[in-house]
Amino acid sequence: MTVKGKNMKIFNTLTKKKADMVPVNGKNVGIYLCGPTVYDYGHLGHGRSAIVFDILRRYLTYRGYNVNFVRNWTDIDDKTIERAEKEGISVKELTEKFIQVYKKDFEELNILQPDFDPKPTEHIDEIIDLIKKLFDREHAYILDDGVYYDIATFPEYGLLSGQLLSELKKGVRVEVSDDKRNPGDFVMWKFEKPGEPSWESPWGMGRPGWHIECSAMSMKYLGGEFDIHCGGQDLVFPHHEDEIAQARGAGFGYARYWMHNSFLNIDNEKMSKSLGNFFTLKEVFEKFSPLTVRFFLVSAHYRAPLNFSDVTLRQAESGLKRYNDFILRIKEIAGKAEKDESGNRVPDITGLIKKAKNSFDAGLEDDLNISKSLASLSDFVRDINSIVDSNHLSSGGAVKIIDFMKMINSVLGILTFEKEILSEDIENQIEERNRARKEKDYEKADRIRENLLDMGIILEDTRDGTKWKKA
Ligand SMILES: [Zn+2]
Repeated sequence: MTVKGKNMKIFNTLTKKKADMVPVNGKNVGIYLCGPTVYDYGHLGHGRSAIVFDILRRYLTYRGYNVNFVRNWTDIDDKTIERAEKEGISVKELTEKFIQVYKKDFEELNILQPDFDPKPTEHIDEIIDLIKKLFDREHAYILDDGVYYDIATFPEYGLLSGQLLSELKKGVRVEVSDDKRNPGDFVMWKFEKPGEPSWESPWGMGRPGWHIECSAMSMKYLGGEFDIHCGGQDLVFPHHEDEIAQARGAGFGYARYWMHNSFLNIDNEKMSKSLGNFFTLKEVFEKFSPLTVRFFLVSAHYRAPLNFSDVTLRQAESGLKRYNDFILRIKEIAGKAEKDESGNRVPDITGLIKKAKNSFDAGLEDDLNISKSLASLSDFVRDINSIVDSNHLSSGGAVKIIDFMKMINSVLGILTFEKEILSEDIENQIEERNRARKEKDYEKADRIRENLLDMGIILEDTRDGTKWKKA
């Protein structure tokens, strides 16, 4: 497959401009997404970041690029250590447990698995090598509690986040040590504290700092210069600023394009643990299906804040239902024998599909402008529905429409092509069957049982009532 059409345009946080995405290596695109720190359940914000960049990856693949997608698990830092201690288990036990939780959540959200999902605890050698290079180039120095990066030795420091080096030197953030050369200097290797996991290094036993992990792991899997580095907006400073300082300070080109997704608000307030408006994915899935949540999370432009509330989620639910009902309606026509079409009355389905595809592509091509793509899809559904209403859709046309919907769903990952069996429907039918049995209408009761069996549902009459299971 070849890459078709124009280059995709991306808003680059580094240049603050929208520009053509030109890959380092032809039609191969390397993407690194900062993944979660695995010490607790995933929340909606993790879901948004994972889904936004899943769409980016799927879209580039749909365009014909070979995408190499890397998303890490941060499995060693203060939070994992504190939490493991509190629960009386090892850091490894804790992080392995939450990696499984995240994997399940992401799978339910229909997020494709990354090509690589590295953990820092398995990349200590790469991390040490990178710090060695930073010593060679005089960006690193040692204090009592660890190895630090001297930001004054890297003139580009602050370019990504727009922080001025002079401000940083005055000192707004003092972290870990007061002896640092500049208040903005950050730790790359923390020396061992009793009871903490630690590894050998040329500078003493210890563990990596958070920022060095991502610099080392992204370059291991994507090379010293790669295409897109992404994450939530809250990672711009200091995390990504520090990643750039480390990688470029060590002589590598590093990521060309930096993409950041905006915040998620809950009932128009910023989501935070202290406000108590904090939802884990698990909690949200109890009220709404994961695909509804996915549709909600992709429905706004990734650089715009998104407001989560019962109302916006219900809107997403009905919006998604409209698409899925549409698919079932068209599928039914696709399955029918061809009607005798009367020549020029046949609408130009191929033309409508082409138009819809062009606007769908044009939206995503423009810095993942999903709202534009979804609007064009919605127009398409409206137009086709009116053709169906007037009985002018042939089964051949319907087949083409289903193929088109499947193609765009390879990007969106939200649509359902098989009739969904809702437990509510099944319960209703069981109730109706019970009524029929009470009224001794056994014929009707049997019919309902057969109907359910056709849907793959087996009924069992027990002493506690009728139970059902999937065949
Ligand atoms: Zn990171």
